[in-house]
Amino acid sequence: MARGKKLYEGKAKILYEGPEPGTLIQYFKDDATAFNAEKKAVIDGKGALNNRLSEFFMQGLGQIGIPTHFIKRLNMREQLIRKVEIIPLEVIVRNIAAGSISKRIGIEEGTLLPRPIVEFSYKDDALGDPLVPEEYIIAFNWATQQELDDIIALALRVNDFLSGVMMGVGIKLVDFKIEFGRHWDGDYQRLMLADEISPDSCRLWDVETGEKLDKDVFRRDLGDLADAYTEVARRLGILPSSKPMPSKPTLVN
Ligand code: UDP
Repeated sequence: MARGKKLYEGKAKILYEGPEPGTLIQYFKDDATAFNAEKKAVIDGKGALNNRLSEFFMQGLGQIGIPTHFIKRLNMREQLIRKVEIIPLEVIVRNIAAGSISKRIGIEEGTLLPRPIVEFSYKDDALGDPLVPEEYIIAFNWATQQELDDIIALALRVNDFLSGVMMGVGIKLVDFKIEFGRHWDGDYQRLMLADEISPDSCRLWDVETGEKLDKDVFRRDLGDLADAYTEVARRLGILPSSKPMPSKPTLVN
């Protein structure tokens, strides 16, 4: 499919005009960045893995009735998506304490939270994506109260779905970041899940060993990032497995 003009280049993805109005092509780069792009590297194969993983999660979420921007994967690195106006918030859902929540309130990494926590950062690289209260979101009109209520409800459904899928392959979903956008269809506007869902924006820990299978491998120099993402894809059945698949479901705890 012919891509149109480049519209936007971010740290890990590029957006091009799509073949029809209201569509875009999302291209996944191999670039990895951390700490607000202070640490950078090119990781061979990361883009293709994230394209495939994001397709897998977005399709699954679509099948349980969560509106997403995903239309179809086009090739190894590109997917066709609906064009949305991104709401300038990083919506973070946490099940287990790690990263910034541990630093902020001194809670030990690995502590199971009493309930899933949904929090918001204002998307602004220059400010380092600061954590913001809901009051700011409404006062500065980044989203309406109705949108915010819908975002929280959808984020919790995404959490239940992703946690279940991951637990089924022996992985704990510690936390993740998602983004939402408004898609215009004529005069009709619809909130939908946008951006990507991949190990770049999740924390994933092996249930048995606690091994990290996400971008912390890169942030904290814990090994080969592409190997970790390949392991996630293999367990989810996206890549051929070197190990034989169990013939019936097995309990993982
Ligand atoms: N996250 C992300 N992009 C960001 C900030 C966070 O995808 O710009 C993800 C991160 O990978 C983790 C979750 O959101 O899965 C929570 O991140 P946290 O607030 O703990 O920040 P960090 O420790 O990553 O700086």
